[in-house]
Amino acid sequence: MTAPAHHIPEEILVAYAAGSLPHPHAVVVAAHISLCDTCRAALAAHQAVGGALLEQESGEAVSDSLRARVLDMLDAPLPPEPTPPKRKGIYPAPVAELLGPDGQVPWKSLGFGVKQALLSEGEEGSLRLLYIPGGRAMPEHGHHGLEMTLVLQGSFSDDEGLFGPGDIEIGHDALEHTPIATPGVDCICLAATDAPLRFKSLVPRLFQPFFRI
Ligand SMILES: [Zn+2]
Repeated sequence: MTAPAHHIPEEILVAYAAGSLPHPHAVVVAAHISLCDTCRAALAAHQAVGGALLEQESGEAVSDSLRARVLDMLDAPLPPEPTPPKRKGIYPAPVAELLGPDGQVPWKSLGFGVKQALLSEGEEGSLRLLYIPGGRAMPEHGHHGLEMTLVLQGSFSDDEGLFGPGDIEIGHDALEHTPIATPGVDCICLAATDAPLRFKSLVPRLFQPFFRI
């Protein structure tokens, strides 16, 4: 796999390092990090700085020596990266852990060859795998809140660009888009959402209660 082109935005990486992302989104970030040397190194740097800041007593102003130490860490070469955890086929370890021991995906058809597998669902949002045949469009939708999509196989394109294996797309409130899977290879994505997507056409809206999109 070539190196991903679309990475985790800084503020989301910081939230992840602090443990404050909702669980479904944290899984997507962890899956991307397991595929991406760049973000793995950025996370290691954040964790080193965060650890140093925790060492100081709370309420105390940052001392000159601590500030110097943190700046040194940011400049210092990074420690050797741990080996990325084992993946199962196209599924990175954080996703493979959510599949059965046999690695089978509980796909459910949404019609027209589109399938989804709900991996987790709760107050923090939901996590699903989506399967979109090459050349097919996902139903057009807008977002409430934060949606994060990681490509595991194939690619899709939308107004924001082309997203291939390992690429992560962050959907926000204002984004309305129609991702289309690139013809030739079926596209499989991991998607975290923190509120129901608003599908615009009638049929998917009717499906919504059944498939919990
Ligand atoms: Zn990355």
